[in-house]
Amino acid sequence: MAESPSIGTGKAPAGSGPDAAPGRAGAHIAWIGLGANLGDALATLQAAVQDLTHADGIAAVTVSRFFRTAPVDSSGPPYLNAAARVLTTLDPLALLDTLQRIETTHGRERPYRNAPRTLDLDLLLFDDVVMDTPRLVIPHPRMHERGFVLAPLCDLDPSLRLPQGDVTSLLRACAAQDVVAL
Ligand code: AMP
Repeated sequence: MAESPSIGTGKAPAGSGPDAAPGRAGAHIAWIGLGANLGDALATLQAAVQDLTHADGIAAVTVSRFFRTAPVDSSGPPYLNAAARVLTTLDPLALLDTLQRIETTHGRERPYRNAPRTLDLDLLLFDDVVMDTPRLVIPHPRMHERGFVLAPLCDLDPSLRLPQGDVTSLLRACAAQDVVAL
């Protein structure tokens, strides 16, 4: 089947905090999750932030603190995680292309599902777009129950709303998960 994205707006707007309105004509607000647990994870995440900052079609990158987190549905050493809010003129699939290019630059391999990784970049939210295609699902389907995603998002904007609720309440429900700010 061809990847014809069904794009619509959800009932509960995602990313509808005070920063959610596009800040510049033609620009979208996207929220990106960053993670790494192989090699020098901190250096890799910092380099990935620089790559985002310099990528075509991406501007105004704001990054959360970094968090040390226990692997969830994965293995290996602890992860470092962060989140970034970006303004972008790219569409969601072009932004995913950019994220995957940056992952590849940093040696990302996919030997098996949920394998440890040098770098993982997930597109969490893109304005209030709802999209479910073989290649891209947004809002990211599992972020609302993952402390390693919610803590950095909350750090960036505690009033951020996800389809499942506000990020602060969702994070509270993940209190048992091992997530510590550096
Ligand atoms: P991962 O191994 O977690 O990096 O998963 C990457 C795969 O998930 C790729 O094949 C992507 O096309 C797909 N994918 C689906 N939705 C998303 C999303 N919101 N952000 C990043 N990758 C996604």
